[in-house]
Amino acid sequence: MKKGKCLIILLTFIIVFTGCTKKESSGKDLERYSATFLSLFDTVTSMVGYAESEEEFNIVSKQIHDEMLTYHRLYDIYNSYDGIVNMKDINENAAKAPVKVDPKIIDLLLFSKEIYKETNHRVNIALGSVLLLWHEAREDGLYDPSSAYLPDMDELLEASKHTDLDKVIVDDKNNTVYFADPELRLDVGAIAKGYATQKAIENVDISLLISVGGNVASTKAKPDGSEWIVGLQDTEGVDGSYKQKVKLDKGAVVTSGDYQRYYVVDDVAYHHIIDPDTLMPGRYWRAVSVIVPDSGLADGLSTALFLMNMEDGQKLLDKFNGVALWTALDGTEYKSKGFDKVAKD
Ligand code: ADP
Ligand code: MG
Repeated sequence: MKKGKCLIILLTFIIVFTGCTKKESSGKDLERYSATFLSLFDTVTSMVGYAESEEEFNIVSKQIHDEMLTYHRLYDIYNSYDGIVNMKDINENAAKAPVKVDPKIIDLLLFSKEIYKETNHRVNIALGSVLLLWHEAREDGLYDPSSAYLPDMDELLEASKHTDLDKVIVDDKNNTVYFADPELRLDVGAIAKGYATQKAIENVDISLLISVGGNVASTKAKPDGSEWIVGLQDTEGVDGSYKQKVKLDKGAVVTSGDYQRYYVVDDVAYHHIIDPDTLMPGRYWRAVSVIVPDSGLADGLSTALFLMNMEDGQKLLDKFNGVALWTALDGTEYKSKGFDKVAKD
């Protein structure tokens, strides 16, 4: 465990400070650089940006990395970090008494409450007790596929009685969180990555495109005024191939899919996005990509649309001026209103 961590830190260091810069001329004598990090949100983060020098780009990418790392630690529900009160601490202590936390946690909780309301409770960060049962079964199943099992439905039903987000009392004056239900647990996995990405790039003033495990966001168009082109992963095809591409100036593209994280029980794949009604993996879609200006919203909405039919999804998109691409279980693609305007032909 310790060894793995060291390796990741080392890799991050090498990649950022010595390698991976790619130079191409662009409109305003700026050059194109890139960096990759392996230390954030348990996934690969890569970014491409235009700067006057490698030094300038390295300062910006390091700033983003450091900020994302702060968010990563604060929003982690599985690990503790010295000197930090994070989501794991909240889960362990907030039913005893209000827990004082960093305002970055308060802001995420308030945002998540909005998403809960707007998505008709489809995206609910208070599903933690239910999601933990799935998490344990998935981890065990991945470790030893021959004895993979499904979580017990009685346990899931019992856990689902403790998922009312209104019982998470957030005091944004005193920066405290309190659970009015002692069995309730938070899991911010559906929103945290996109939300942290948004916060980390909000004050970046160079043209930059960042992908945090496929959650993509950009600060503005490229220096020559042209848009970034972002591929939406082909769910059926080989790795790295794209069926659809979209154009992005300032905005975010986030995909939720059943092929990203799953395990297999009796030849059936069970993925990680859980329908709050059935307490089972959502069976509406193979994947849904959402494009909106804000990366936190894109993350929340992509999980939400993954767990609802197209009509309800379109209504939600209309509210937020978003567009989406749905991939059905048989691979058929459906475009939302306005998708063609952002599609790259
Ligand atoms: P990814 O993490 O692959 O980017 P999502 O953004 O869709 O995908 O988030 C999935 C994660 O969100 C799960 O791993 C789990 O932690 C959490 N989650 C699963 N189902 C729900 C749900 N209905 N509401 C809130 N969070 C969920
Ligand atoms: Mg999401």
